[in-house]
Amino acid sequence: MTEIPLQQHVAPSGEPMTVRDLAACPPPESWHDWVEYDAKAWPRKVEKHYEIIPTICFNCEAACGLMAYVDKETGRVKKFEGNPFHPGSRGRNCAKGPATINQVNDPERILYPLKRAGKRGEGKWERTTWDEVLETFASKIRAAIVEGRLNEIMYHVGRPGHDGYMERVLGAWGVDGHNSHTNVCSSSARFGYQIWCGADRPSPDYANARFILLISSHLETGHYFNPQAQRIIEGKMKGAKLAVMDPRLSNTASMADYWLPTWPGSEAAVLLAMARILLVEKLYNREYMRRWVNWQEYMAAEHPGEAQTFDRFIELLIALYAEYTPAFAAQESGLEEEIIVDIARQIGHAGTAFAAHTWRAACAGNLGGWQVARALWFLSVLTGSIGTPGGTAPNSWNKFVPAPFLKPKPSEVWSELLFPPEYPLANYEMSILLPYFLKEGRGKLAVYFTRAYNPVWTNPDGTS
Ligand code: SF4
Repeated sequence: MTEIPLQQHVAPSGEPMTVRDLAACPPPESWHDWVEYDAKAWPRKVEKHYEIIPTICFNCEAACGLMAYVDKETGRVKKFEGNPFHPGSRGRNCAKGPATINQVNDPERILYPLKRAGKRGEGKWERTTWDEVLETFASKIRAAIVEGRLNEIMYHVGRPGHDGYMERVLGAWGVDGHNSHTNVCSSSARFGYQIWCGADRPSPDYANARFILLISSHLETGHYFNPQAQRIIEGKMKGAKLAVMDPRLSNTASMADYWLPTWPGSEAAVLLAMARILLVEKLYNREYMRRWVNWQEYMAAEHPGEAQTFDRFIELLIALYAEYTPAFAAQESGLEEEIIVDIARQIGHAGTAFAAHTWRAACAGNLGGWQVARALWFLSVLTGSIGTPGGTAPNSWNKFVPAPFLKPKPSEVWSELLFPPEYPLANYEMSILLPYFLKEGRGKLAVYFTRAYNPVWTNPDGTS
């Protein structure tokens, strides 16, 4: 670090001033004893000594890196800052990251385990110990397992963040008791992706994209999920064009080259019109399609009387989507025809560097919303931009998840509280119905524990 003494300047304390280069972050070798002057003591120079401990923000699933500044005198966390050594967030966080300090110091934070002291709903609680908590729940879990009441144990999670650890635990108990909030969140989008490629979420390479298309309440709206937001802007700074299909002017939409405020529910029509343009104008990736799309099976099953050639397949595909003209999509969505055509052509020219993403609102808020994800992935298939630099990968392709050394065998029971037979195509647990099922007496629970999920807030009518 260069130091430039400025003898002509004098600090309010009377000492000569010294100017240093601005440091982005304390270097790791100083984390065990980082010294800053106490701002409140100004103009006196009072040293504060901190231990800096790298940690993670859990205010959303992005899990950005944070550095906790622990006051060595009191042992208390004084502040959080972004950790530039974290490969995802690279030191940049949304406002919720450093605001983690508010949770640490929240006067309403529950610091101890509590148990109900009065009648249910009376609001009376008393402090208990972790030993009592573990004893109470472990014995109930054990009794349910030993007595064969395996469906009476349920773990209900909102943000897992543990890459399948609890599924293994429940599997080891032989219990079918994993519940999520996904059915009122992203399951429709996941379903659309899953039936295309077997992975249920996309992982776009925005930083290297030439064209980026984002749809509705996506994780990339720009008010959180900062690692994604950074890379969208990085791609833009390298020349990528950005289109955001969203009735709301989100933070990301406000930075976009094209804001497409479609009528909710019309997104798939616009995407299919774009797909048709790619096909008609021969902007699709012929080689990719010929090699990776199961067109032979399609032709044999749907058009056995036709010439079984790739060219005939493309002609029939164009005929299949004939009604999705730009005029039709414009009428459905409220967008201008020219914009739909212009964006489709840019997607075609971006080719394998077309990055795309959809998640909640358009998929979750409309009947058949899973078709939005399906139609969007269709554009990725047509451009051959799957798993390419600047394209979109199935999430399991570019993420390292160490395989556990032992996996329990699948449980032999089936909980109809989670997957009721009248919804055979449910993609995730029907968590929204759980309170009704319990009320109807369709099943009962001996142990129900939640994590990063608030059933009182979300069920039965919530959408988070
Ligand atoms: S994007 Fe914001 S809320 Fe999400 S992990 Fe990063 S800092 Fe936390």
